Amino acid sequence: MSRPAESLAPSGEQYELRSGDHRAIVTEVGATLRHYSVHGVDVIDRFGADERSSDGRGQVLAPWPNRLDAGRYRFGDHDARAALEKAAGLAAAVRAGQLLEERPELAERLGDVPVAVLDKGRTPGAHLLSGAVVNPRTFRQLFPGMTTRDFPFQGAVTSEGVYYLTRRSAIRIPAPPPMWNHGNYVGSVDEMGRWLAERAEELGVAVIPETSATHLLVQGGRVVGVRTGDKGRGRDGEELPNFEPGSDLRARVTILAEGTQGHLTGVALDRFGLQSRPQVWALGVKEVWEVERPLHRVIHTMGWPLRGAPHRREFGGSFVYPMGEGRVALGMVVGLDHTDSTLSVHDLLQELKTHPKIRKILRGGTRVAWGAKTIPEGGYLAFPDRFHMPGAMIAGDGAGFVNVPALKGIHYAMRTGMLAAGTAVDAVGPGRTAWAPGALAGYDEAIRADYVWRDLKRVRNVRAGFKYGFWRGAALAGMSITSFGKFPRRDFALESDAGVPVGIPKAPRRYPAPDGTLTFDKLSSVYLSGNRTRDDAPNHIRIQQQVPARLGETWAQMCPAHVYETAAEGGGDAVNVEITASNCVQCGAITAKGGRLTIPEGGDGPEYTVM
Ligand SMILES: Cc1cc2nc3c(=O)[nH]c(=O)nc-3n(C[C@H](O)[C@H](O)[C@H](O)COP(=O)(O)OP(=O)(O)OC[C@H]3O[C@@H](n4cnc5c(N)ncnc54)[C@H](O)[C@@H]3O)c2cc1C
Ligand code: SF4
Repeated sequence: MSRPAESLAPSGEQYELRSGDHRAIVTEVGATLRHYSVHGVDVIDRFGADERSSDGRGQVLAPWPNRLDAGRYRFGDHDARAALEKAAGLAAAVRAGQLLEERPELAERLGDVPVAVLDKGRTPGAHLLSGAVVNPRTFRQLFPGMTTRDFPFQGAVTSEGVYYLTRRSAIRIPAPPPMWNHGNYVGSVDEMGRWLAERAEELGVAVIPETSATHLLVQGGRVVGVRTGDKGRGRDGEELPNFEPGSDLRARVTILAEGTQGHLTGVALDRFGLQSRPQVWALGVKEVWEVERPLHRVIHTMGWPLRGAPHRREFGGSFVYPMGEGRVALGMVVGLDHTDSTLSVHDLLQELKTHPKIRKILRGGTRVAWGAKTIPEGGYLAFPDRFHMPGAMIAGDGAGFVNVPALKGIHYAMRTGMLAAGTAVDAVGPGRTAWAPGALAGYDEAIRADYVWRDLKRVRNVRAGFKYGFWRGAALAGMSITSFGKFPRRDFALESDAGVPVGIPKAPRRYPAPDGTLTFDKLSSVYLSGNRTRDDAPNHIRIQQQVPARLGETWAQMCPAHVYETAAEGGGDAVNVEITASNCVQCGAITAKGGRLTIPEGGDGPEYTVM
C-alpha cells in the first residue's frame, strides 16, 4: 500500500486528516466505493480492486439471478414475483410479521419467505452491545398485548445518581432531565436480541445468523437486495475445504438496520447522495462483573479520568448499571474527536475502576464479559438528508437515531424499524409499486411526525457544544435542555472525527498497570468477548500502513482490541502499522479515524451474550 501524500497533510506539529481527504485515503488503500454493472445490475461494494483480485472473485457480478440459490440458505423458488424483504432489524421484522399476519392474502402473494433478517453475528444478539437502560415505550408499542413483566428486562430503575468525579472524590450533581431514568428498565441488549428473534420467528420471519450482507444490489437506480459474503476463505482469499459461496437475496424492499458504521448503509448514503453532513462517533467499552454486593442504583459519571480543557476535546463519561442481584455492567464512552493520540478508552475504563467509588462496587467481584462498540453521536445534526431511497430505508443507529445526553438508542432503533416495516408492507400491497419514486417517502413522513424526531431535535446541540470544552459545553447543554432545544437558536456544525488534528502530547497519558483482578490488558479483554475470528481469515481492516507516528499511535491506543502495533520506520516520523485482524471485535472506531472496518465473514467477531 503506498502513501497518498496529497491526502496526509502535516499541520505544524500535528498530523491532520481532513474530512475531505478521508475518502481519498480510503481510495488509495484499495477500499474504495466501486460500482460495477453487469446485465443491468449494479453491484456496489466498499472493497477495492485488491480485495477482488485477491479473493479471486472475478465472477462476483455473475448475472442475476443465477447465484440465487448458491448459498447456504435456500429461499425456495424465487422469481421476479416473489418478494423477499430483507429486514435487518428485528423490530422491523416483528412488525412486518405482525402486519402480514393481519393480511394473509398479501403474505401469500409474497411467497415462501416474505420477511428475512440477516445477521453477521454467530447467533441473533451476538454482535449487540449496549448499556443498557431501556425506555420500554417501543416494546409496549410493538407488543401491545404484553406487560412489562413479559419483556426481557432485568429490573426497573429504582434509584439513580449522576456524579462529577475527581481522582479521589465523587460529587453528586443534579441529573439533567434527559438522564432521568424513572420508568426505564435495565437489561442486556443481547438478551433482547435473542428474545426479539424468537418473536420474529414465531411470526414466520426467516432469521439468518452468521451471514454478512457484503454488497448492495442496485438495478435501474433502485435497491433490489443484497449479496451475502462467501465463507471459508483463507488468509489470501483462497478457497478452503469448507468454502461456501455467498448468495444474492432479492427484495422488493430492503431495510438497512446495520447499526453503527453500517457497511451497506454507507454505500447507500454515498450512492444516493444522502449524507451532506458528517457523522461523529464515540467509542464505548463495557465490562460485566459478578459482584458480591448487589447494586441498587443506576450511576452515571462525568469528569475524571477525562480532562476538561477545551483543546483536548475529551467528551464522555461512564455508566454503572445493576443487572439483577449479582451482576453489574459498567462502561466508559468517549467521543472520537479527542486530540490526544495516547487516549485509550479501554484503558480509561481500567483507570475508572481504580476510583474509590467504583472500586467499592466491584470489590471481591469477577469480570465475566467485555466488549466494545461505537455510538453515532451526531444525532439530528448528522441525519441523512432522507431516510429512504428507491427500494430501501435506513433504520436505527445506521441513520444516527441516538439521544446522546440520555445515552439512549434502543427504543429509537426499534421505533424506526417499526415505522420502516409499516411503510414496507404498505408499499408491497396490491396496486402499489414498492420501487416507484416516492413509494417509501411515507417513512420519512412517519419519522418526522414521531417522538423520535421530536426528542432528537430538542437535544440536537448538546453533543456539538462540547467541542468548546467541558464547562462551556455543559453550560450550552444546560441552556439547550432547559429551553427544549430553542436555545442556542442556530444549529451547531459537526466536524468529522477524522478531521480533528491529533498529536502525541509531551506528557503522554499513563494508565494503571493491569493487575489481572481489577484492571486488565486488551488481549485478556478480547478473550472475554468470545471473539470467533479465525486467525487465517482474510484481513478485513483497511488502513494505510505507513503513517506518521501520531496517527499510528492514535490507532494503536484507540483500538480496544489490540489490533494495531507500530514500529519505527526509516528513522523519521513515520511508523509501520502491523495489524492482527483476528483480534478485532468490530467496534467500528477505525472507520471514524481514517481507516476502514470492512465486512468480515459471517459468524466472525465477538460472541456477546450478556452485553
Ligand atoms: C456502550 C454503549 C452503551 C449504550 N447504552 C445504551 C443504553 O443504556 N440505552 C439505550 O437505549 N441505548 C444505549 N446505547 C445505544 C444502543 O445500544 C444503540 O443505539 C442500539 O443498540 C442500536 O440498535 P441498531 O439495531 O440500530 O443497531 P445494532 O444494535 O448495532 O444492530 C445491528 C445488527 O446488524 C448486524 N449487521 C450489521 N451489518 C451487517 C451486515 N452487513 N450484514 C449482516 N448483519 C449486519 C449486526 O451484527 C447487528 O446484529 C449504547 C450503546 C453503546 C455502544
Ligand atoms: S480494528 Fe476492530 S476492534 Fe480495533 S478499532 Fe477497528 S473496528 Fe474496533
